[in-house]
Amino acid sequence: MKTVVQAPGKINLTLEVLGRRPDGYHDLRSVLLPVSLFETVEVEERADDAVTCRTVGEGVDVAALADLPLERHLAVKAVRAMQRLCGTTRGCDIRIVKRVPIGAGMAGGSADAAGAMAALHRLWGFAGRWEALVEAGASVGSDVPALLHGGAVLMEGRGERVSAVLRPDDKPPPPFWLVAVFPGYSVSTRQVFESWTPRLTAGADVCDNAISSVRNGDVRAACLTAYNGLQDTVNRLHPETERFCLALREGGALSALLSGSGSAVFGLAESRAHALRIQRSLPKNVWSKVVSTLPDGVMAAHGFLMPRVMVQIHVGQPS
Ligand code: ATP
Repeated sequence: MKTVVQAPGKINLTLEVLGRRPDGYHDLRSVLLPVSLFETVEVEERADDAVTCRTVGEGVDVAALADLPLERHLAVKAVRAMQRLCGTTRGCDIRIVKRVPIGAGMAGGSADAAGAMAALHRLWGFAGRWEALVEAGASVGSDVPALLHGGAVLMEGRGERVSAVLRPDDKPPPPFWLVAVFPGYSVSTRQVFESWTPRLTAGADVCDNAISSVRNGDVRAACLTAYNGLQDTVNRLHPETERFCLALREGGALSALLSGSGSAVFGLAESRAHALRIQRSLPKNVWSKVVSTLPDGVMAAHGFLMPRVMVQIHVGQPS
């Protein structure tokens, strides 16, 4: 049997770095929005215990993965985590079509892991606790719990605590349209965090305002509160990044911001047509995509619908 999952990448509408922790990680608070840029993750069962993984790029360069040892591929780490959870040594063949640029702060690797977990959840009939699944995801990659939820989330801690932004009675709000731009170089998340210096954070209402803007589908309110606490550090390490934000603003974006630890930046737009106009204003040789944010439950098509009540509680131990 095989199953195919379309696993989305993400952008961060806000990203606050609250401080460095004794374990070397940083405490984060982020309103994270999955976007309509999907990795196709196909997982096929095997009779033996071998695990294989083949990755091809569609519009993105995957050369950086060529020398990656199999066990360091995030999709394979996800398989190992699922094997532990399900108490099995069964293997599988994974085929990934990557559309999210590598090292862009758009969580392509975490999307591959979340996709593999969702596929194996179905193939192996995982019957354990959702909390265990989310904790296993967190051990694979910081953005995996958020992407397993498959909708807008508030992400805290290292990423292991996720809460749904939409409340059970909220009507699905209109999506945000945006232009994502990959400047052509990867940024090392580790280097960015090592270079980050504590500074005043964004202010207590940044996160609350961002959550309200998503609930209301109010892109202008979202622009007023969009914030990335890593932007200065990334601009210092890669001054060109700021030029791409400027190009988006000059092209008419309501606001332009770094996603995660970069290198991708995104410009928020009024509508799809507006986003396409912004995209047309960019240099033709630069990777860019017009995408929208996604409603809750995007993983539901794969039989993977995390109970709403689950994502409203915090998972894992507060740090
Ligand atoms: P993060 O912020 O989690 O580092 P990112 O969005 O900036 O992620 P990714 O493309 O998810 O960037 O991951 C980049 C790093 O992870 C690369 O160093 C790459 O070698 C490693 N990696 C392992 N598996 C994958 C994968 N399936 N896709 C992309 N990168 C992977």
